[in-house]
Amino acid sequence: MQARSSMIKYFILRHLGRKRMTGYELLAEIGNITGKQPSTSQIYPVLNGMEKSGYLASKTGFYGKRKSKSYSLTASGKSLSSAIEKHFESIVRAIISDKIRVCAHCNCEILKGHYSKVICGRKLDFCCSACAASFAQK
Ligand SMILES: [Zn+2]
Repeated sequence: MQARSSMIKYFILRHLGRKRMTGYELLAEIGNITGKQPSTSQIYPVLNGMEKSGYLASKTGFYGKRKSKSYSLTASGKSLSSAIEKHFESIVRAIISDKIRVCAHCNCEILKGHYSKVICGRKLDFCCSACAASFAQK
């Protein structure tokens, strides 16, 4: 379950980066995104551990009639969050890199919906027909 717990950590960092949330709100939010709500026994030890490591700060308050703890990111939580984000970005980039094409005219990267045109016997990729047309005129 190691992979799942680091996913939970990542979701916690991401969500708390946007706003202060209670453990319960985090559970519901993670459930919404992943389609599978983690149990309280999965999330609270993670939250406690992250707080102990100095990534989160908690505050106890009333939410309606319920007294509960809400969490926010500390400065080191924020830098951990952006470090993990960069790490995920590089993984995603490695996965999709063979699917990315580069426009022969403007050099922009195209992930989806490229436009191909044969020019002087060579099949070239463009981001749009306008780029293909300007390339052909050169
Ligand atoms: Zn282009």
